[in-house]
Amino acid sequence: MTTMLPTPRRRPQPVPRSGLLSDAPQALADGYGRVATDLRVSLTDRCNLRCTYCMPAEGLDWMPSAEVLTDEEILRLIAIGVQRLGITTVRLTGGEPLLRKNLEQLVAGIAALSPTPTIALTTNGIGLAARAEGIAAAGLNRINVSLDTLDPATFATLTRRRRLDDVLAGVRAARAAGLNPVKINSVLMRGVNDHEALPLLRWAMAEGVHLRFIEQMPLDAQHGWQRSTMITAAEIRTRLSEEVVLVEDADDALTRGSAPAELFRVVGTDYSVGIIASVSKPFCGACDRVRLTADGQVRNCLFARAESDLRTPLRAGASDAEIARNWVLAVAGKQAGHGIDDPSFLQPDRPMSAIGG
Ligand code: SAM
Repeated sequence: MTTMLPTPRRRPQPVPRSGLLSDAPQALADGYGRVATDLRVSLTDRCNLRCTYCMPAEGLDWMPSAEVLTDEEILRLIAIGVQRLGITTVRLTGGEPLLRKNLEQLVAGIAALSPTPTIALTTNGIGLAARAEGIAAAGLNRINVSLDTLDPATFATLTRRRRLDDVLAGVRAARAAGLNPVKINSVLMRGVNDHEALPLLRWAMAEGVHLRFIEQMPLDAQHGWQRSTMITAAEIRTRLSEEVVLVEDADDALTRGSAPAELFRVVGTDYSVGIIASVSKPFCGACDRVRLTADGQVRNCLFARAESDLRTPLRAGASDAEIARNWVLAVAGKQAGHGIDDPSFLQPDRPMSAIGG
């Protein structure tokens, strides 16, 4: 009988402190060989929906406004990330980023940076109909709209608001503003909208938008997530296969890189649907993300239990080099994986809305 030895875990390499205060560009590298280049910035923890997998009906204790970064502070941190630390993509999220008053100016400020990063936005689409053109003109490159159902009653149950028409108008406006491709993020919940996998696919194909299903993750403020009831990526594929034939997208296999969605081609069409198996097939080994919360904390993983405070040094007058050093150290300590399947897994204290999805 052979005994399987556990694969030795590579320990994070200590980051030399000398030289970290230099003005030379540095990489946001961790001890497992990954480099963060994709920065997700939460602009607010507030949201105008109350999706059951994210927030309780009554909302949450919002961050006091004095703790939320100002537009100037956000832009300064993004500039440090882009100009000193190798960030190439900036995704604005929340909470609901469209609730941020000066979003258009913020996008324009990011677009004016040199080098200019790719700028993306994740939104629930409410209010997007009136703002898509302005945000696109300010320099937004990519947009993801979250939409889990096409049924007004299910939308009201799932989000606790009757705003489906606003979201659909937002999707159309994003396309009209030239934000192509428009990606749609959908989370399926058992007994709520899991019968809508195929209607969502039919709709997305007809609208010409890119649909990506995302497995529900343990990030709800109510701590109600259960592995046993989660709709898995495999189940989503099975449901779609009741009507269409899916094959793994050969182009995707070559170009996927660190993108989390596995793409499946709908046979007989040139349409591909994405499925993100965040829980059942984690992609931590290829992770290139780092997050900044609306109150200025760096999180090196969605599920991290520790954060690094950039707001305090920022407000105490730290130089760009000092802030960059803190940021480098924050990413250096990133764990190998999120460990949802580990019995010792503990859900982070902050819910998704306060981290930035
Ligand atoms: N308000 C914006 C929106 O709705 O897209 C941005 C923030 S929201 C937290 C970002 C994404 O996270 C959405 O697509 C949402 O569906 C997803 N999300 C929230 N909670 C989740 C959970 N527990 N599991 C999986 N995805 C989740």
